Amino acid sequence: MTSISDYSEQLIPLTRDELVAKLKIALDSNRFHHVLRVEQTAIDLAKANGVDLEKASIAGLCHDYAKQRSDADFLAAIDRYGLAPDLKNWANPIWHGVVGAELVKHELGVWDEDILNAIRHHTTGDATMSLLEQVVYMADYIEPGRDFPGVEQARQLTHKLLALGVAYQTKRTLEYLLDHGSPIYPATILTYNAWVPKYEGEING
Ligand code: GDP
Ligand code: FE
Ligand code: FE
Repeated sequence: MTSISDYSEQLIPLTRDELVAKLKIALDSNRFHHVLRVEQTAIDLAKANGVDLEKASIAGLCHDYAKQRSDADFLAAIDRYGLAPDLKNWANPIWHGVVGAELVKHELGVWDEDILNAIRHHTTGDATMSLLEQVVYMADYIEPGRDFPGVEQARQLTHKLLALGVAYQTKRTLEYLLDHGSPIYPATILTYNAWVPKYEGEING
């Protein structure tokens, strides 16, 4: 297991300890420990897939930075940062990634677009995802604190081939949303079309 004790690539104007301290203030204890586990899982997946480890650490730690912000904070940020007004029709599950990335940029000083995209797309995925985006999408889903039917298969597929994990998560999440009558965010459908049919034969069983 590789761990990162500090940063040297100037991707964030904070030490790792300073970033962790900010997250401890922004998040409740369960969520704080979740982001630490996502960071470690992302670092491990990054190492296996030739992805920059500092980017994996920062994106893993920051992916849920905005999770506990108020709806009013998100609505104000959508205006302040000129995001699509349609976003106002959604809610925290969508906002904390898409709008949260802007808060990470402006409040934590992360300007690397690959890291910001990994945060933006960590909940819904996207039709096109860099390896870092795939790593964070999967780390959030399979971190060791996750316990749901299918998580072991998700872990096995992800370790076999990152894209298989992406396809599996995308299919299972859409099934879950449909079962519960939840509104489907458009990017979720685009992610499904781009990843699931392509790998359908390899993610079952
Ligand atoms: P977490 O922040 O670590 O709890 O995990 P995520 O960011 O992956 O997911 C947050 C929530 O968003 C979960 O309950 C998902 O089921 C939900 N979610 C994912 N995609 C969609 C979508 O297209 N529409 C809606 N309404 N919810 C979604
Ligand atoms: Fe999240
Ligand atoms: Fe998360």
